[in-house]
Amino acid sequence: MNECFAPFCRVKVRNGLLMCPPHWRKVSRFTRALVYRTYRDMVAGRQSSADYRMARNRAAFEAVQGEPDPPMPESGATKLSPPKAESPERHRC
Ligand SMILES: [Zn+2]
Repeated sequence: MNECFAPFCRVKVRNGLLMCPPHWRKVSRFTRALVYRTYRDMVAGRQSSADYRMARNRAAFEAVQGEPDPPMPESGATKLSPPKAESPERHRC
């Protein structure tokens, strides 16, 4: 088990994962792809580990940037009044 690579995060992650899922979600798709690519290149011996370390640092930086993901998908949605249940008004005499 490794620790999440994001600063100050002590969550244990599975081998082969760089960060805990909440942090990894905040990393941009571009940087995630960069991490994967440089990791594969490093493992394959095509590139030095310096590129991978750079990509990893970039991911760590992005992971602590910006707003945390809202816990519930509904929390960020604009509030819409629920559609009124059409109650058939019947005139009773
Ligand atoms: Zn984390």
